[in-house]
Amino acid sequence: MKKKYAVQKSGIRGKGLFAISKIAQHEIIFIPKGVVDTTKNYSRSDARTSQHMLAIGPHTWLKTERNNPLWHLNHSCEPNAYICGSKIIVAKEDILPGEEITIDYSFTEEDPFWELDNPCQCGTSVCRSRIRSITHLPQELRIAQRKYTPDWLQKYT
Ligand SMILES: [Zn+2]
Repeated sequence: MKKKYAVQKSGIRGKGLFAISKIAQHEIIFIPKGVVDTTKNYSRSDARTSQHMLAIGPHTWLKTERNNPLWHLNHSCEPNAYICGSKIIVAKEDILPGEEITIDYSFTEEDPFWELDNPCQCGTSVCRSRIRSITHLPQELRIAQRKYTPDWLQKYT
């Protein structure tokens, strides 16, 4: 699969993933590889150590290396990509070259103690500022985003 993104400086936070050619709606952007970690609990202290992990099931995280594109996939409250299945990053809409690729982190995490370590800077009109797990989202939002929610979190939608 041809690489569809490049890592560049982001206006949201640090570095981000940017489309280098047009990515069509529903197209797979990448599938992260990593090591599965099931040793963590849902707790304040464990939640702090899971910032660069992707939850892929109840009490199950994918731990990735620093060179993994997942490290640079920023959060937005109005994202243009989402997670399909448990870890396939898919375009929610057409993404044009130069646009930053983002997902909504709240739709990737169940741990009620998890929280993004800084207020969100996505700058969209629907920004929630404080980003926590799906369990904290209003029900209308969860239901509206059902088809953009990983399989294992659809019980909340
Ligand atoms: Zn935001």
